[in-house]
Amino acid sequence: MANGRIIKALSGFYYVQTQDGIYQCRGRGVFRNKKITPLVGDFVSFDVGNPDEGYIQEIKPRENELKRPPIANIDQAIIVSSAVMPDFNPLLLDRFLALIEAKGIKPVIFITKMDAVDENERIEMQRYQRDYQQIGYPVELLSAKQPDDLGRLEVYFTGKVTVIAGQSGVGKSSLINALKPSLLLKTADISKSLGRGKHTTRHVELINVHDGLVADTPGFSSLDFSEIDLAELADCFPEFRVRKENCKFRGCMHYREPKCAVKQAVETGEITRFRYEHYLNFYEEINSRKARY
Ligand code: GDP
Ligand code: ZN
Repeated sequence: MANGRIIKALSGFYYVQTQDGIYQCRGRGVFRNKKITPLVGDFVSFDVGNPDEGYIQEIKPRENELKRPPIANIDQAIIVSSAVMPDFNPLLLDRFLALIEAKGIKPVIFITKMDAVDENERIEMQRYQRDYQQIGYPVELLSAKQPDDLGRLEVYFTGKVTVIAGQSGVGKSSLINALKPSLLLKTADISKSLGRGKHTTRHVELINVHDGLVADTPGFSSLDFSEIDLAELADCFPEFRVRKENCKFRGCMHYREPKCAVKQAVETGEITRFRYEHYLNFYEEINSRKARY
């Protein structure tokens, strides 16, 4: 038996990276009757059947997993937002952050297209950077067109498995391509001309970027809160999470309850008001869903 990590799944084969190279493996029948199937990112044991093909026998317990892209054991999600084109959207960023927090994955924030901002926009982005850093999130302001910026980003990737998330057009593909020029992920223009029909096979691959692994498919195409309960939502906001012990009521939703430490921190400015308003926004969204069913 050999051990390794699945770095690619394609047409029924799993490509397992080990210390002595990459093995092509099949899942065989063993997983068919169970609920679990191998995922890219899984640590597995496999039989080396012959030099060309192995058989996966065991999947090690997972830290976490995503449906889109289908990957297990993710260390971090880099949420890419653009400063402009499209305009920076903190409500959408907070939605990504909450969804990633709910999955137990560590978020990192990259704000791109800083080469295209005016002076006021730069100041505004720096203010957001401070706000999010205050919460504990790493935040980088950058441009995919600035080689100096890209060098600075290497540390984020080393030794980690990363998923890149963010709305369409913010510069995710450009960023990955700039980090690894040989990779050539399709940017918007090219992928449009190729058409969608050619990519019907769902496959995903982890690619090497600065001694780390990055999913070649951006994450979270679905942004609804269908998998988050009302009771979980507040815990997806780290600055609420650390204060909830000081709320008068256990299980405080930081909503209509009196003597709420979170609302007090909003009043004193320790929690930014926009984050709290976004929380209420998501709260209402989840609550109205509950009412419907
Ligand atoms: P994706 O949909 O998030 O993968 O976005 P793309 O990488 O396809 O980029 C969308 C558009 O933004 C393209 O026209 C890129 O050339 C442009 N773009 C990406 N990054 C930057 C940047 O840092 N600065 C500027 N000015 N444009 C960028
Ligand atoms: Zn509270």
